[in-house]
Amino acid sequence: MALFVHKYGGTSVGTTDKIKAVAKKVAKFRDDGHDIVVVVSAMSGETNRLIGLAQEMQEKPDNREMDVLVSTGEQVTIALLCMALKDLGYDARSYTGGQVRILTDDSHTKARIQEIDVERMKGDLSAGRVVVVAGFQGVDEHGNITTLGRGGSDTTGVALAAALKADECQIYTDVDGVYTTDPRVVDSARRLERITFEEMLEMASLGSKVLQIRSVEFAGKYNVPLRVLSSFEDGPGTLISLDEEAKTMEQAAVSGIAFNRDEAKVSILGVPDAPGVASTVLSAVGDANIEIDVIVQNVAADNTNDITFTVHRNDVDKAKAILEGVALELGAREVSTDAKIAKVSIVGVGMRSHAGVASKMFKALAAENINIQMITTSEIKISVIIDERYLELAVRALHSAFDLDAKSEA
Ligand code: ADP
Ligand code: ASP
Ligand code: MG
Repeated sequence: MALFVHKYGGTSVGTTDKIKAVAKKVAKFRDDGHDIVVVVSAMSGETNRLIGLAQEMQEKPDNREMDVLVSTGEQVTIALLCMALKDLGYDARSYTGGQVRILTDDSHTKARIQEIDVERMKGDLSAGRVVVVAGFQGVDEHGNITTLGRGGSDTTGVALAAALKADECQIYTDVDGVYTTDPRVVDSARRLERITFEEMLEMASLGSKVLQIRSVEFAGKYNVPLRVLSSFEDGPGTLISLDEEAKTMEQAAVSGIAFNRDEAKVSILGVPDAPGVASTVLSAVGDANIEIDVIVQNVAADNTNDITFTVHRNDVDKAKAILEGVALELGAREVSTDAKIAKVSIVGVGMRSHAGVASKMFKALAAENINIQMITTSEIKISVIIDERYLELAVRALHSAFDLDAKSEA
């Protein structure tokens, strides 16, 4: 007999029939004698619908009120799931984040979990009940409702599993595991048996939205065994495993490919080639709380530099306005922006022990005539910025260059 935390995403609870199917799945685990805490998301599309309503009210909706609004989606699904369980003859109780007391900081719309009270849940479990908790939400020390950022129910699931010392946190979704790349983009993507926390963290932060980044951070920090599985079919899914275990296995150079279209490029051209200039340019942007990702500097023959960097697309206008001020100050020639870019990244702990990974990546892109605009690397990833038109082509080319394609069935 084990204690499992199950998390079901939006598409898995998208209709009342699907919620009934989730109840049956949970019931099966109960029949096998396991204790189950279930975390659910809102029905698919609901959170977006609520955000749309808010935008009709206020150009930039108040964050505190936004959290009161968007947290309602999950309150619907916890109640419906408990009704479905009771209808099958299983005792169950639903709780909002505030009722459990998932205590967070007060950063509305992107709050961080600080503490979880497990007493009430433990009481229900020992009374033989299924505990159903609303994902994505918590409460700050003053009792205000908070939310954890988009995709935050994954983090609720992992945090509950850590607090309850569950045997495994199982994330049920609309794909049957973590794939070498998004299976909706590359047909030949292959399910991974396991992936290390470190690799999963890179994949998530580089754009693979199958798990929210914070949930992976949390699982790594508290050593929560984490598995991604399908809500709709049985199978082993993908285990997110400790790096130590992975070290004993033969590693391919590249485990997966992530990508995103969320960034835009900003350039300041013709700044003086002198100490302190890059710092002036980048601090001005950083001081405005704009996160900078990839940076490239080119030196021209006339003792000037071009500095180019990427920011989130939502920040590009703000960054441009700031740089126009800096350009006047430094006597720079021009500020330009380009939002039609995409970032493609290859990820793998095996890069540490394999040589020639970067050149293989660049060769595969060159063979498709794809121009690389910017490059950035870390120990276990290489990212390139390319024209967004070639994103899918690039992902497919890299997928096959690094032997990630699923072997076609004979
Ligand atoms: P949920 O609503 O269950 O939280 P999400 O839509 O957040 O589901 O995450 C599942 C989706 O993540 C999949 O449908 C898939 O398109 C996408 N995805 C992106 N990258 C990957 C990957 N490497 N492996 C599996 N799925 C991925
Ligand atoms: N419902 C929230 C969202 O759509 C949280 C989640 O699904 O994880 O972002
Ligand atoms: Mg999700």
